[in-house]
Amino acid sequence: MDDKVLVFGHKNPDTDTICSSIIATKLAKHLGYDAEAVRLGKINKETEYVFNYLGIEPQREISKVDEGQKIILVDHNEEAQSVEGREKAEVIAVIDHHRIADFTTTMPLYYIAKPYGCTATVLFELYQQHNLEIDKEIGTLMLSAIISDTLLLKSPTCTEKDVEVYNKLEEMLEINAKEYGLNMLKAGTDISALTAKEVIDLDAKEFMEKGKKFVVAQVNTADISDVFSRKEDISFAMEKEIADKKLDLFVFVITDIINTNSKIIALGEDKELAEKAFGQELDEDDSMLLEGVVSRKKQIAPPLLENL
Ligand code: MG
Ligand code: MG
Ligand code: MG
Repeated sequence: MDDKVLVFGHKNPDTDTICSSIIATKLAKHLGYDAEAVRLGKINKETEYVFNYLGIEPQREISKVDEGQKIILVDHNEEAQSVEGREKAEVIAVIDHHRIADFTTTMPLYYIAKPYGCTATVLFELYQQHNLEIDKEIGTLMLSAIISDTLLLKSPTCTEKDVEVYNKLEEMLEINAKEYGLNMLKAGTDISALTAKEVIDLDAKEFMEKGKKFVVAQVNTADISDVFSRKEDISFAMEKEIADKKLDLFVFVITDIINTNSKIIALGEDKELAEKAFGQELDEDDSMLLEGVVSRKKQIAPPLLENL
């Protein structure tokens, strides 16, 4: 077991999860914890852009925790999205901006959840409360996380608080946030070197509710047809995942970050659930276009869960 308190976000880490675990670690250290930021998977191209910009290295990767391990969760709480062994670890704190699903602990804990667009926005507030300095590195990590989770403030998950923090950070860092953000988001859309399996794993989240198990995976693009041209391979990889993990449904979401629309591919025994949830029929190729839909958390997962 690690002596340190391990701080990490969800599996298939995105920019908010990676950045917020580093930001939260600095706060935990400030509060007297011997904390270390770790991650539950490979960093994506978008996050790599942030690390290259700052000239820093990604944190250590772990795949499971031992019984009694002290941990701090950021950017998630659901069992299926967390580390293997979490049920026997000691959760010191959760800092999150998602729905609370199946979360139980044996010990009391700090649980800080706000319905903001980004975990880093919650952390910005905590830094202010604790009078903790936001240096260039921490500020850039915060700004990057906000840009990523809100798609440069365009996602319906984006709140006034996210916009306020974004503006403060832009001024503080003396950076052109829009230009930086577009480059960062674009870096994340480069999936040319990835196999279909890697594409569907990139930003996949598993949900388990009412005896149903499903995955919603998402990929950002500047051109939906670019990704959709690989539909055959992607569907094949999805079918394999459905069989391997015994999923009832797999929804793959291709999100156009420029025009803020998404095209989904729905496969699995329960694929009519997608038709019910979105009030549209799937095309013959199991796809449908969702106008104005970009957020898994607010626009895709809730209607699916409500229609289970
Ligand atoms: Mg996340
Ligand atoms: Mg997040
Ligand atoms: Mg995300």
